[in-house]
Amino acid sequence: MQRPTIAERLNETGRPTFSFEYFPPADAAGAFTLLDTVVSLKELRPDWVSVTYGATGATRQRTFDAIRAIQRHGGVRTMGHLTVAGQSRDEVAAAVDTYAALGVEHILALRGDMPEGPTAPFVPHPDGLRTATELVRLIRERGDQQIGVAAFPDGHPAQFDKDLDARILLEKEEAGATFAVTQLFFRAESYVELVDRYRALGGTMPIVAGIMPVTHLGQIRRFQDLAGAGMPADLTAALQAAADDRERFREVGIAWMTRLCDDLLAAGAPGLQFFTLNRSKATSEILARLRRLPPRRA
Ligand SMILES: Cc1cc2nc3c(=O)[nH]c(=O)nc-3n(C[C@H](O)[C@H](O)[C@H](O)COP(=O)(O)OP(=O)(O)OC[C@H]3O[C@@H](n4cnc5c(N)ncnc54)[C@H](O)[C@@H]3O)c2cc1C
Repeated sequence: MQRPTIAERLNETGRPTFSFEYFPPADAAGAFTLLDTVVSLKELRPDWVSVTYGATGATRQRTFDAIRAIQRHGGVRTMGHLTVAGQSRDEVAAAVDTYAALGVEHILALRGDMPEGPTAPFVPHPDGLRTATELVRLIRERGDQQIGVAAFPDGHPAQFDKDLDARILLEKEEAGATFAVTQLFFRAESYVELVDRYRALGGTMPIVAGIMPVTHLGQIRRFQDLAGAGMPADLTAALQAAADDRERFREVGIAWMTRLCDDLLAAGAPGLQFFTLNRSKATSEILARLRRLPPRRA
């Protein structure tokens, strides 16, 4: 195991981590874009990158292929996501073994959603696992990877019960997870509230804030579904006012997310994980602006 692990790195105070999430490309053009982005963002010296995981056989293989390609061209620590949706316990166990064979030392353990989306009732595979917590246990028993899990600053969209979310996060820690990464959100208060609730229960895992750059009008509806509580009215209004001007729209989104990152670091977030959508420009711009801001006291 390469040291420090992600959790150890997150627990080093005063030096926030920066990491980038990619998705496995579906075709050759997508593969080219991904590698271009990986190489370009490597310049920013991320602490790690991660690759998302889909439920079907074809998308699973694409995740492993993308990780292999990133390792060849990027040379950065790579975390693999793993979900239980649509797979038997044996298939999930085989994926843990594949990650081990690829030298992937960190797994983000997730339940995954039904193809209809995050609020559709979850129907487990007849021979499968039901929750991310069960997956954490399986990885603990089977592999020696370090395990991260998901957290939801605006509440998981299936029930919007933040107390339940905090208890589940604690269960994941008790099962063996050592860090968490959040879903996208738009206000630092949501993150701070999540951390406070979880710490009040005795939770100790470092929680990385998930950051989604908003750069296109078409993203608003999808991000609202994912973020649960939705986009703040003032952000939506500012984006809609700029809807006819692509550059202005982009500026509103990037300026908002830069401010969010700055607020989160000032509030003590140990790391920021950018959902890059396999593009480098918005993420590099936010990080460049962030690095130009004067340091703030927490
Ligand atoms: C950073 C991040 C990365 C992601 N990457 C991927 C990816 O690569 N591929 C993908 O398909 N999806 C991904 N997702 C989406 C994720 O799979 C969904 O958000 C999913 O709905 C929840 O996953 P979970 O791991 O939190 O599941 P869980 O923790 O199992 O929770 C799922 C649901 O079950 C409920 N639940 C769990 N345990 C209990 C309990 N003990 N009692 C009562 N209710 C319970 C929860 O409240 C929630 O409604 C990602 C999400 C995040 C935040």
